Amino acid sequence: MSTLKIHPSVDGGVKKGTPGFTGGTLHCQCQSDKVEVRVESNVAHNHICGCTKCWKPAGAAFAMIGVAPRDKVAVTAHAEKLQVVDEKAAIQRHACKACGAHMYGRIENRDHPFYGLDFIHVELSDDGGWEEPRFAAFVSSVIEAGGARPEQMDDVRARLTELGLPPYDALNPPLMDAMSTHIAKRNGVLK
Ligand SMILES: [Zn+2]
Ligand SMILES: [Zn+2]
Repeated sequence: MSTLKIHPSVDGGVKKGTPGFTGGTLHCQCQSDKVEVRVESNVAHNHICGCTKCWKPAGAAFAMIGVAPRDKVAVTAHAEKLQVVDEKAAIQRHACKACGAHMYGRIENRDHPFYGLDFIHVELSDDGGWEEPRFAAFVSSVIEAGGARPEQMDDVRARLTELGLPPYDALNPPLMDAMSTHIAKRNGVLK
């Protein structure tokens, strides 16, 4: 079962982050002239994601993604190599034109439940200490993304559970509740 590749950052077991870690630098995967993004904060809500939109390293079935406050995320080198993958998407994923790595995803719609948070892939950092992933989101979507066949899904979920990454087919309950709370407040259902 452990031959199943989830993501290189967790396939050997999930390594816990360092409490009090205060941030680091992300680099794209180019050999030279790397895009560099400075993150002056730890990552939060870090997780494994099976959706079709998140950037995955070569050979991985899942992506690993978390958030950091947008005012703590800054491009510090080779911004000219970045382009937005899909201008119409809620999350504007800024990717390196040369290597394809997604350096940060940003939400420009102020009404979005996650406005103010940038989405980042901490595996692009050489700094150790980032908070470890704690759950798996959009697991069923790996079928759509071509990362697993339907008949492998029991094994995929078993492996995620074994790694301490509870599998969900949406986001985890705290994030789903946060989104619904935001919408209910906006709609006046929740006062
Ligand atoms: Zn690159
Ligand atoms: Zn995703």
